Amino acid sequence: MLIDSHCHLDRVDLKTHDNDFGVLMRACNEAGVARMLCVGIDLDAYPAMRRLVDPYPEVDVSVGVHPNESGGEEPSVERLLELAADPRVVAIGETGLDYYRLEDGDSAGQHARFRTHIAAARACGKPLIIHTRQARADTIRLLREEGAEAVGGVLHCFTEDWEMARAGLDLGFSVSFSGIITFKSAESLREVVRQVPLDRLLIETDSPYLAPVPYRGKPNAPTYLKHVAACIAELRGLDVERLAEVTADNYRRLFGREQSGIGFTAA
Ligand SMILES: [Zn+2]
Ligand SMILES: [Zn+2]
Repeated sequence: MLIDSHCHLDRVDLKTHDNDFGVLMRACNEAGVARMLCVGIDLDAYPAMRRLVDPYPEVDVSVGVHPNESGGEEPSVERLLELAADPRVVAIGETGLDYYRLEDGDSAGQHARFRTHIAAARACGKPLIIHTRQARADTIRLLREEGAEAVGGVLHCFTEDWEMARAGLDLGFSVSFSGIITFKSAESLREVVRQVPLDRLLIETDSPYLAPVPYRGKPNAPTYLKHVAACIAELRGLDVERLAEVTADNYRRLFGREQSGIGFTAA
């Protein structure tokens, strides 16, 4: 039983699933994925995303605005709290810093938005989903300055070095790896996977992006999560079932889903 800790189900290409979201959900179930976290990246698309997953209690959601999003509604603490009052919302994010795609060269806007998310997470007591790319020092600095340790969360789709992972772990965060770890060029990242404490490890697809080998370059879906799991299991010298169990336990502990039924409802 696998849990996908980060996917964008509202962006998954349904062409190979009869253009039917229910067909995709059944395919995920058949591929061993029992739970998914559908992550928000902008407030304008949020209501449609929330409606899409509403009939599927095995899908958790998060609310937030991605650091690279522009032109949509800018989040305030109050607005995030209003949306996060929904019991299906298990986390705030994705939020963070991404200097790789910093278009205007001005990081101040990203910093302000990131601080808003951390304040909202602290106010509602829900963990943070952190997106960080080429902004190691500032990401850790802002997490520290805003007291993110009080709620913790996950550094998602981790691609940075061990020093950054260590700093996140020290703040109580977990680390989640995507299909990137299956890429041939990702040897140094595989070294990080080997070092993360087993009780802080999560797995994700980041669908529809970053399909794992052997589907690299194709549209991704949670149905491919087993390829991420198999790669990490091998790196950690565990069988896949054990890795699945450990990462599912970590997910439930982090996102407060210990009590909820994991079974699928017929769609
Ligand atoms: Zn991200
Ligand atoms: Zn994402």
